Amino acid sequence: MRVVTKIGEMQNIVDDLRRDKRIVSLVPTMGYLHDGHLSLMKIARQNSDIVIVSIFVNPTQFAPHEDFGSYPRDIAGDTKLANSAGVDFLFTPEKNEIYPADYATFVDVDEITEKLEGKSRPTHFRGVATIVTKLFNIAKPHVAIFGQKDAQQALVIKKIVFDLNFGIKIIIAPTIREKDGLAMSSRNSYLTKEQRQESPVLYESLTEASKMISGGITDCLTIKEKMIKLISMKQSAKIDYISIADSTDLEEVDVLQKGGTYLISLAVKFGNTRLIDNIIQTI
Ligand code: AMP
Repeated sequence: MRVVTKIGEMQNIVDDLRRDKRIVSLVPTMGYLHDGHLSLMKIARQNSDIVIVSIFVNPTQFAPHEDFGSYPRDIAGDTKLANSAGVDFLFTPEKNEIYPADYATFVDVDEITEKLEGKSRPTHFRGVATIVTKLFNIAKPHVAIFGQKDAQQALVIKKIVFDLNFGIKIIIAPTIREKDGLAMSSRNSYLTKEQRQESPVLYESLTEASKMISGGITDCLTIKEKMIKLISMKQSAKIDYISIADSTDLEEVDVLQKGGTYLISLAVKFGNTRLIDNIIQTI
């Protein structure tokens, strides 16, 4: 595995690979790698000749009061993990390489970015859209892999690829979970022992919603009330939002319709740690 830190070098490498007709994939990450990230790399391997993984804690997707400074970082450990996952190139640029002092261009996606996560984190998707667009122009992949864990992000990226004509195949990989159901996340490392013990309630409440829907309940308020009840039983949990929305445009729904596909998603704070999770359900 070769570690690359400069944009120009990464672009030259990919230009050569593409000239040689190699299929290139990209897995963008913020590092502190876990099995969720590794599953994306595996899918990348299955869908390309050359796997590029980027590690960059992207400052523009964090609001000033958020955890950019304290976000967990372990570049040495990540390098080992990526190497043993069979990654070909690890792109780990410095902040100034990506955003030099005079940096001025941002990518804004309308509408779907204004809902759910966008309501709680109004500047988040502008940062995500900008870094992903830049990474697409740097790594020039044929294929890019993202996780269903960040469901709204996945929709935003598909929209960018469509609207800006990137011609990149986007693969959305299933959410990898701990044994007790907690979705793997670099941010789980922030949880205290008590918060960690209570955190599986996120997936429990999603599973309960799924069961209710399978059992024929179509009234979203009834489903949400049950989820709120379950989560509120946990002392350290504070609900940011619970949503049942159309899975393509993220419009909130009141009554589920037969044949519809819905994104059931939530954000819950455990102390200062904000966790998100979701499931997709077709009825
Ligand atoms: P992050 O490093 O958290 O920005 O995540 C990098 C990529 O890994 C994103 O596409 C995430 O959606 C994906 N990802 C994060 N956690 C998981 C998980 N538990 N299962 C699958 N994919 C994940």
